[in-house]
Amino acid sequence: MDKISFVEYQKQANSLISEAGKKDMILNGVMGLAGEAGECVDLVKKERFQGHELNRDKLIEELGDVLWYIAETASGLNVSLDEIAEKNLDKLHKRYHGDKFNAFDSINRKE
Ligand SMILES: [Mg+2]
Repeated sequence: MDKISFVEYQKQANSLISEAGKKDMILNGVMGLAGEAGECVDLVKKERFQGHELNRDKLIEELGDVLWYIAETASGLNVSLDEIAEKNLDKLHKRYHGDKFNAFDSINRKE
C-alpha cells in the first residue's frame, strides 16, 4: 500500500461514516474513540497482568481504529487532522522549549 497523508486518510474515513454516525459526528466520534482506546488498554492489560504475549498486530489495528474515530470527530468539528497535529506539536514544543518531555515543565505548565 502506498503511503497515505492525513488529508487523504480523513477524506477516505469520511466516506465510511454510517448514516447514524453522520447525525452527530462529534458524539459518535468521541464515544468510538473512548471505546477503541479501551481496546488498546485491554491488550496491554492482558500482557502486563494476565500472562498474554503482547499482540502487536492487534494493537496496531486498534490504533488504526482510534485514528478513524479521531478523524470522524475532527470532521465533525470541521478541522483537518493536519491542523490538529500542527497545534499539538506547537503546544508541546512551547511547553518543553523545543526539548523533550521533562517533569518540571510538565508540572509547571501554563496552559
Ligand atoms: Mg477496534
